[in-house]
Amino acid sequence: MHDVPRRDFLARALRWGAWGAGTALGGVLLEGCAPSSTKRPVATTSLAVAERASAADWRRLAASLRGVLVRPSSPSYARDRLLFDAALAPRRPQGIAYCASNDDVARCVAFAREHAVPVTARSGGHSYAGYSANDGLIVDLSRLHSVDVVDSDSALVGAGTRLIDLYDSLAKRGRLVPGGSCASVGFAGLALGGGIGVLARRYGLTCDNILETTTVSADGSQLRVAPDSHPDLLWAQRGGGGGNFGVTTSFRVRTYPVGPLALFTLHFAWEAAQEVLMTWMHWIGHQADELWANCLLQSEGLDGLNVEVSGVWCGSVNDLATVVDSFVRALGTKPTSSFVGGEDYLHAMADEAGCSSLSLAACHLVGDGAGTLSRAAFRAKSSYVVAPWSDARVTRALNSLALVSRRAPDLGASLAFDSYGGAISRVDPAHSAFAHHDALAGIQATHSWSTFSSPTQIATGDEWLRELGANVFESRDGAYVNYIDPTLEDWLDAYYGASVAKLVRVKSAVDPDDLFHFAQSIPVKSTTSAPG
Ligand SMILES: Cc1cc2nc3c(=O)[nH]c(=O)nc-3n(C[C@H](O)[C@H](O)[C@H](O)COP(=O)(O)OP(=O)(O)OC[C@H]3O[C@@H](n4cnc5c(N)ncnc54)[C@H](O)[C@@H]3O)c2cc1C
Repeated sequence: MHDVPRRDFLARALRWGAWGAGTALGGVLLEGCAPSSTKRPVATTSLAVAERASAADWRRLAASLRGVLVRPSSPSYARDRLLFDAALAPRRPQGIAYCASNDDVARCVAFAREHAVPVTARSGGHSYAGYSANDGLIVDLSRLHSVDVVDSDSALVGAGTRLIDLYDSLAKRGRLVPGGSCASVGFAGLALGGGIGVLARRYGLTCDNILETTTVSADGSQLRVAPDSHPDLLWAQRGGGGGNFGVTTSFRVRTYPVGPLALFTLHFAWEAAQEVLMTWMHWIGHQADELWANCLLQSEGLDGLNVEVSGVWCGSVNDLATVVDSFVRALGTKPTSSFVGGEDYLHAMADEAGCSSLSLAACHLVGDGAGTLSRAAFRAKSSYVVAPWSDARVTRALNSLALVSRRAPDLGASLAFDSYGGAISRVDPAHSAFAHHDALAGIQATHSWSTFSSPTQIATGDEWLRELGANVFESRDGAYVNYIDPTLEDWLDAYYGASVAKLVRVKSAVDPDDLFHFAQSIPVKSTTSAPG
């Protein structure tokens, strides 16, 4: 099985329609595409945000910081307020504080509290719903991007570290932390909400590898959050979602030795899609922890629909070839192309991020140093597979994808099934707030577009997501908070399931006045208990 010479490893980055660096941001298309939640006010009082702190107050804040405060009059403001998703209408923050220390973060939180200015943390800016932006103060952690090896099996990671920099820094020391695919995602946002990636069945979710954090709480304290200090908050920060409990400035995380990796990709004709997905759902639950695999069904516009099964094996190529063979035999249909081969760890991570031919410096977003990666315009909906689906449900999913492919050929639309199980599933609920450890797979439906796509096609993509949510995904199966979805109605239960009650208790204890509030933040109970 070696007949694809150059494997386009997972190619996740390509699934997001790249948004040209020179796009007129804030233009007609972007304004028209903003999800409704981004237009909701985050204000907690009727006073306009701009009036809550005077120009002199903002100057005093700027003077007190080691880092830099960007104001609306700053020349870099237009770029500094952008998030990764080019479909989000940019907010109008009164200040963007590029914090250079924990004390800077504490000063910003104190300023927000004192002046009743809405405050939000931003690390990588990849929130799907734009919850790391507001019209008040954005506490930007991108300057806190250090990676220090603490001891033989842990590292201290700055909140704003980009995933590719984390992988690179640790790989030089022969270590790794299981993370996610996209190079420019910020560590804090990923880790606080979960963190599913190609090494998760072997080493667990990122959140479950958090050993301790330093977090600036709503009252401005710099908390050491560890098993012997605020243990309930530590539990909540393992999967309870970014933005809820304070601003985390660093994480001590467990690391693992880098070992041999092997990769595979199989392509199938669309006619085999039903059989491939059904077989994949039954097969993946019986595989060793060493295997992670994904089943991707995608519309590539005029190029039609395709089916790809790919994955990563922590071990030798020969052993992976046997495992892949077992899938093809169970299926009974031959792939149209296949690849199985070995790969260096860091190169595999770069490949996954769509950076295989780029230098490390170029594998960052445009505007971040010498970065060349484009932002993307997309919308998404997530769910979980808790047990293999019925034939009828798979048929409904495939038919809906085929329909959107026909109706909106300009969109890139896909349904991605990412395997869970393995080490992910062996986590005690007392360890972590993450609520979907028992899932067989996570699902993400996305549609992405370019500057040339028409509003009608984009609306067709949105309608497809709505239709999937109503007729294919089951709300009781849950949703992934890191694919945060402003259109979800029962979002609290969907993201957090059995962890809701305790999360509300922790939130109420550490942020009783709901300073860290956004449209889908964990609510505060009116009566509170002592912090955990
Ligand atoms: C292209 C792309 C690929 C992705 N691939 C994966 C993947 O492979 N696996 C996966 O699990 N997820 C993936 N994600 C989802 C990603 O994990 C989430 O979007 C995550 O929240 C992004 O973190 P961020 O720091 O970049 O985002 P931000 O927008 O900065 O933050 C996200 C949320 O966390 C809060 N937050 C940020 N920093 C802090 C902090 N220091 N302290 C407290 N709260 C904070 C923000 O206020 C916001 O609510 C992907 C997203 C994109 C856009």
